[in-house]
Parts: sequence; structure tokens; C-alpha cells
Amino acid sequence: MPSLQLPRYSPTLLPVKETSTSSSHKLSGSTIRPIEFNLVIESPPLICYGSRTQSTGALLSGLLFLYVNAYTIPMKSVTLELVQEVTVKRPSIGACKDCIHHVNILKRWDLLKHHTTLPRSEYGYPFSHLLHGDLPASTTASLAGVSYYLRATATPLAKDVAPITLTRALPVYRSIITTDVRRCLRVFPPTALNVTASLPAVAFPKSTFTMDLQLNNIINKDKRTRWQLRKFSWRLDEITRLKHTGCDKHPDSPQQLEDVRTIAFNDVRKGWKTDFSNDGRIETEVEISTLDDVPMSCNVLAPEFGFEVEHMLVVEMLVSEEHIPPNGSHQSTPTGAARILRMQFSVEITERGGLGISWDDEVPPTYDDVPISPPGYDHIVPTRDIEHLVM
Ligand SMILES: [Zn+2]
Repeated sequence: MPSLQLPRYSPTLLPVKETSTSSSHKLSGSTIRPIEFNLVIESPPLICYGSRTQSTGALLSGLLFLYVNAYTIPMKSVTLELVQEVTVKRPSIGACKDCIHHVNILKRWDLLKHHTTLPRSEYGYPFSHLLHGDLPASTTASLAGVSYYLRATATPLAKDVAPITLTRALPVYRSIITTDVRRCLRVFPPTALNVTASLPAVAFPKSTFTMDLQLNNIINKDKRTRWQLRKFSWRLDEITRLKHTGCDKHPDSPQQLEDVRTIAFNDVRKGWKTDFSNDGRIETEVEISTLDDVPMSCNVLAPEFGFEVEHMLVVEMLVSEEHIPPNGSHQSTPTGAARILRMQFSVEITERGGLGISWDDEVPPTYDDVPISPPGYDHIVPTRDIEHLVM
């Protein structure tokens, strides 16, 4: 029996059986190839929960089917590989495939290592692998992209028969689940002004979140002046960094490339509350929306490839100074001083969590959940009369 067959895995699924031309995996009317593959992924979407230092990874499991439709096929090898591919998008590297595509085999299953003649049948191989929690998620960013796929290859012994391959894309996500709110303080010396901001610790692509901004100490009692907010603007930038060194044939001096693109922005000219009591403050709530049709990535940190995607919220407040009007007067005169208060807040863009359970948090039932013994007969619950069956 060839080593590929694994009938013990599931007797109903994988008996060694003769495949007929009307087998369910084929479309009627399609050409029948001597060998065919099919891949069935059984695991839920591959989501690494938590940051790359905290995540316990994601479990991949599935079944690879090999259909030998010809009477017998002498085979050289059958392999299944889990591949990570980093694609560099940089026009200066030209058309060299090795400069553009960096391929890492994360896991390889040698399903058939020795020359074996496979009789016509359906063969199955269950596979599973734990993807490490520090792997960068699948990404399509401006300077580079990361993708994962499974590649099955069957190499017939006959040299004139080309190997048969099947590739299946395997998106890997990262989701940081938290409802925490980040509070930040920015100061603007030599003025006494400061800004306190609170924003969610994580945000999702194609979503809306709010940031609370508070501009404090707007009144200078000694100088009898105060600051007024004239307008403010915000923009959410996606910053992609890549340190690319090229392939062995085209070594490139390592150069840090950076690409900044704006995902969303807005100018705000009204809608804030000004409070001149005590030291004075201005409060506003900013709605940040990334719902526009601008492609964006989640945050990625892959130091092994010198690749990083991060998001920065840049806020600029234009304030002007004026003399505090005497009591009873609303007429204020400007002092002529104005400032732009510029501040940045990093925003962690992460994938939505789905079910939000990591594979290692899915607790299997333990024996504690099972009663010590089945219920006894000493407590009889009366039931309704059983209908008599008339034959
Ligand atoms: Zn090259």
C-alpha cells in the first residue's frame, strides 16, 4: 500500500476506492487528467490573535486529495508546501524574479518520497500546522506585499509528463482584540497650552472611530490674554517602510524606503466647545472615517524582511491669541500671535476579530463536565400517558 493512503483517518471519507469517470469531483464534460488534486481547508480563517510577541499563532488543518484517474501512474514524488511569499514592489529592481519574490517554505510535507506506482484510486492526506504568532499577516501595501499559499506538487516518474501542481491562497490575518482607550498628552512650550487626546487602542480598516481632543490652559491670567481655536485639520497617514537588499545576483546596498499615503483627512472649522472658566479649555470630538474607497492595510511589523506598515493620525490646530475683553464687553482684540499646534498619534489598524477566540483558548470539555454516574431510577418523573398503538 502506498504511504500516501491514510484510510484510518476517516473511514467514511478516505476508503481506497476505484474512481470512475463520473466521480463527484469532476465537472461533467471536463477533460479528465491522469492525475488531479483537490484541497479542502477544514480550519477556520487563519487569525493570529494579539501582537506578534503575544500571539500563539493560528492552526491550519485540511485534507489534500490526489485522484489517479489513469489505470496506474508511476510517481516520483508528491509534496505539499506551505509557502510565504514577500513581493517587493519597486520599479528599480527591474524584472528579476528573485529580487521581486522572496519565497519561504514554512512547512513541507513529503507525502511520497520514493518511486511508487499508484493504482487508479482516490488518495487523501490530512495535514495540520501551527502558524507562528509572529508571522506578518497577508498584506498588500505600497512598497511590498505578503501572501501565503499551499502548493501541492505531484511529479510523475516519466520525464515527458509535466508535474501537476495546485496552489491555494491562504490569507493570514492578525487581530488585536481590546476595548482599551489610549490617553495621550501633548505639550506646546513655551506656551502653557496642552492637548489631551483619547482614542481607541485599535481601529479597523473601513470603519469609523472617534477621538476626543481637549485643548487646556487657553487663558493666561498674568498677560490677560487667551487662545482661540480658529480651525483644525486631521489626516490619517499609512506609512510603509521597506529595507530591501535584492537577491544574491543583484545585491543592493540596504536602503530604507518610505512611502506615505493619506487614507482620510478633514478640515474642521466649527463644532467645538470653548469654556473660559478657570484656566479655560476647548473640547471637541473628531470622527475619523476610513470608509472611503481608499485601499488600506492593517499594521504590519516584519523586521525579518525590513518591512513595516503603520498608521499615524496627524492633527493640526490653528490657534490665535487675543486680549481678554474687559468685564461686560464681548469685543476682543487680537494680539497678533498665532500658532499651529501639530501633533501625531499612532493608530493600530487591526483586523476585526471574528469569533475572537484563539485556538489555544478553545477549551475542550474535561471530565469534570461529565456527571459521576448516569441519573438513577429512584427519582421517577411522571410522564403523560403513552398513546396506545393500534396495529
Ligand atoms: Zn535579482
